[in-house]
Amino acid sequence: MTQASLGESVVQKTVHAAQNNGVAANITQTQPLWLLAEVTYRCPLHCAFCYNPTDYDKHTQNELTTEQWIQALRDARKLGALQLGISGGEPLLRDDIEDIVIEAKKLGYYSNLITSGVGLTEKRIKAFKEGGLDHIQLSMHDITEEINNFITNTKTFELKKKVAAMIKDHGYPMVLNVVIHRYNIGHLKEILEMADALGAEYVELANTQYYGWSLVNRSQLMPTREQIEEAERITNEFREKAGSKMKIFFVVPDYFSDRPKKCMNGWGEVFMIVTANGDVLPCHSARVLPNMQFPNVKDTDLGWSWKESPAFNKYRGDDWMKEPCRSCSEKANDLGGCRCQSFLLTGDAEVADPVCTKSPHHHLIEQAIIDAQNPVIAAQPIVFRNDKNSKKIIAGELNERTEQFHALP
Ligand code: SF4
Ligand code: SF4
Repeated sequence: MTQASLGESVVQKTVHAAQNNGVAANITQTQPLWLLAEVTYRCPLHCAFCYNPTDYDKHTQNELTTEQWIQALRDARKLGALQLGISGGEPLLRDDIEDIVIEAKKLGYYSNLITSGVGLTEKRIKAFKEGGLDHIQLSMHDITEEINNFITNTKTFELKKKVAAMIKDHGYPMVLNVVIHRYNIGHLKEILEMADALGAEYVELANTQYYGWSLVNRSQLMPTREQIEEAERITNEFREKAGSKMKIFFVVPDYFSDRPKKCMNGWGEVFMIVTANGDVLPCHSARVLPNMQFPNVKDTDLGWSWKESPAFNKYRGDDWMKEPCRSCSEKANDLGGCRCQSFLLTGDAEVADPVCTKSPHHHLIEQAIIDAQNPVIAAQPIVFRNDKNSKKIIAGELNERTEQFHALP
């Protein structure tokens, strides 16, 4: 799931203009259109760019039960959620996804399974089809077995091709997600040709954004500006050739933009995540932020979490902003960017996202781009996402790789 997938679907309703002590105030009410259910952090793959929290190992023992998930789906639907993403980790490691899909259909969600393909069998895909699953998004990594297996630290190349064919055979639209990084950016044309050959209707080329494991591996994964520009050129050329039969999204990486994105379409505006252990978050990485208490579905009502919890209200709107964002003429476009990125790179969640060229911390982004080209830094080994490394990060054993990023995970 990325910002591109969220598209333009911001729905923000101004409920009424109220008189308050004689001062007119616009009271804006939001609703969560998207519910992302991160049903487990367990995963058989070990991707170097995984956006899951680096301390995910803490959250693998206390997953929500099927009944708790079903209740969360019902409660989010009451709040207005329409789109359901079933994600992970690898969601198919749970054997109750069929039940979740059936409930989602009953409730009227448009449901999307976001999977690596590992664990998708004929029996399960049939059950998903019968249960009313609308959409399956499959991750692909490269056209070569070597890079696919290297970056995921698994042998999954052949399996992914088989799963793609199975998805097509069962009448699902072919939706591929390819995370782009230094190791596959040079193969973009061939990746798009492969997508075409697989009959893909949608391809999301998601340039790596640097959170979680990809932040730890930033210098090892980041391509050069020239490579990004070339990738965009190839994408545009392919788009023209493919016409309407294949929709291609190219998600421009933050680090090579002058302005940040309006992260999650605005904090607590349209997007709600329930994590494997029940935490309710406005964005995937929010738990990195200090002094925040996120609600949990095990002990609080989802409606309260969305509407009233201090965590969801903290960065809604722009009252929290510091300069230069506060008086910036562009603030409605990006709401100052990403709070997590600001915190991870500067140690202060309330400053402008350093991606912005107006930010006094923009040099941190420029330095990261330079570091990624430094052969000594870039040659450090990749820290693959796995339980052992997660435990090491929790224990502080990889501090030399993480201490420059404030309070990572
Ligand atoms: S990015 Fe890779 S390791 Fe992370 S959840 Fe997805 S498939 Fe698993
Ligand atoms: S200064 Fe802040 S509000 Fe203005 S463009 Fe940059 S990040 Fe956005």
